[in-house]
Amino acid sequence: MKTKGLTKNKVNIVTLGCSKNLVDSEELYTQLKANRFRVTHESGKDDANIVIVNTCGFIDNAKQESIDTILRYAGAKENGLIDKLYVTGCLSHRYRDELEQEIPTVDAYFGTNELPRLLKTLKADYKHELVGERLLTTPAHFAYLKISEGCDRPCSFCAIPLMRGGHVSKPMERVLAEAKSFAQRGTKELILIAQDLTYYGLDLYRKRNLAELLDRLADTEGIEWIRLQYAYPAGFPLEVLDVIRERPRLCKYLDMPLQHGSSSVLKLMRRGITREKTEGLIQTIRERVPGIALRTTLIAGHPGETEADFEEMYQFVAQSRFDRLGVFSYSHEENTHAFTYEDRIPAEVKQERVDAIMALQETISAELNQKKIGQTFKVLFDRKEGGYFVGRTEFDSPEVDNEVLVSAAHASVRPGDFARVTITDATEFDLYGELAG
Ligand code: SF4
Repeated sequence: MKTKGLTKNKVNIVTLGCSKNLVDSEELYTQLKANRFRVTHESGKDDANIVIVNTCGFIDNAKQESIDTILRYAGAKENGLIDKLYVTGCLSHRYRDELEQEIPTVDAYFGTNELPRLLKTLKADYKHELVGERLLTTPAHFAYLKISEGCDRPCSFCAIPLMRGGHVSKPMERVLAEAKSFAQRGTKELILIAQDLTYYGLDLYRKRNLAELLDRLADTEGIEWIRLQYAYPAGFPLEVLDVIRERPRLCKYLDMPLQHGSSSVLKLMRRGITREKTEGLIQTIRERVPGIALRTTLIAGHPGETEADFEEMYQFVAQSRFDRLGVFSYSHEENTHAFTYEDRIPAEVKQERVDAIMALQETISAELNQKKIGQTFKVLFDRKEGGYFVGRTEFDSPEVDNEVLVSAAHASVRPGDFARVTITDATEFDLYGELAG
C-alpha cells in the first residue's frame, strides 16, 4: 500500500547503543547511498517509506529502549505511516526468534553480520569497493574507526561475544586506508574503537600490534588527534604508552573499562586481573605518559559483591581519582557466565551503589576541573549551542566526557576548528573559557 506523502525508496536509519553500532549504521548508509537510495540517519522528518532500526542488546535498559523503538515504528507501519520496517543489530542478533514471534509487524530481522542480506532484501547490491569509504553521520571533523569486531574475553557479565562473535582484527592496511580516506575528506580526529583495542593483531599477526598500528596511523597527514577507547587492563601492551607519549597526534587520553575495584569481585567477573595489578597498571600509565587523562567504567551489584567489596571499590575510586568515570548497575543477562550465579542484590541497592560512586566522582571531577582554571588548552569545536561554542580538549571524547564552553558573544569559531582556549571557570563536568590571544 503506497502511503500518502512518503518518498519512495527513502530509508531512515535509526541507531541505538554504542559507537560500534553507529559505524555499522554508517556502513549501511554508505551502501544504500551507492545504490541510489535516499538515506537519512535519525531524521526527524517522517517521509521515509522504509525504516531500519539498528538495535542494542547489551543490558536491560538498552534492550528496553530498542524494543520501545521497534514498537514505535511497528505502530507507525500499522497506521500506514511507513511501508517497510527492518530491524538489525545486537538485540535482533540475540533474540531474533522471540522478536519474530512477539513483533511480527517487522518485515525482517537481521543479525550483526548480515549487511549483504539486508541489502539484498532491499534489492540493493553489496558494493565491496566501498569498504573503507564510509560516509559519516558524526560531524565531519571526527570519525569513529573500528579496528576489530567481536571479543574473545570471558567476562562473566557480558553478552557482547554472543552478539558480535569472537575477536577479528581488521587488516592494518585497511585501517590505514580508512584513516587516509577520512583525512582526505577533512576529518581531524579519529576515535579508535573495538570491544577490546588491546587484543588487536593477536589473531591476524600472532602478536599484540596496537602500538605499531598507532605509530603508523600517527603518520596520517591531516589527522590531528587519535584517541583510544575500550582498552582492556589484563595483558595491556605497555609499548602503546610510549607511542602515546612520543607521537603528538595521539591524545593523552585512555579509556580503559576496569569494571570493579575489589579483587574478589574481579575474580567472579573473570577479568583476569587483581586490584593490586590494576593499581600497578594505573601507576605505570601515569608515569609513562605524564598528564594522561584516564576514563573508566565500573559495574555495581555484580552477583557475589558484598558490602565490603563495594566499600573497597568506593575506596579504589577515591584513591585512583579517574579523570572520567561511568558506572552501571549489574544486569543479569541470559547465557552469560554470571547468569549461573544468583542475582540476589536488590535493584534499589544496586542503584544506591551506582549513585554513591557517581556522587564521589562528581566531587573528584569538580576538584580536577578547578585546577584547570587559568590554564590554556587546544580545543576542537563541535557545535554552537545556545550562546556558546562547545568543544573538547584532547582529554575529552565526544558525547561521554567534559566539554569546553566559549561564549559566542566574544568569539567566532566554526565546528571543526581548533583554537587555544584559556579556562576562566569550571563546574563538575564542564569548563568555561575565552579564546587565548
Ligand atoms: S572485554 Fe569483556 S566486557 Fe568487553 S566486550 Fe569483551 S567480554 Fe564484554
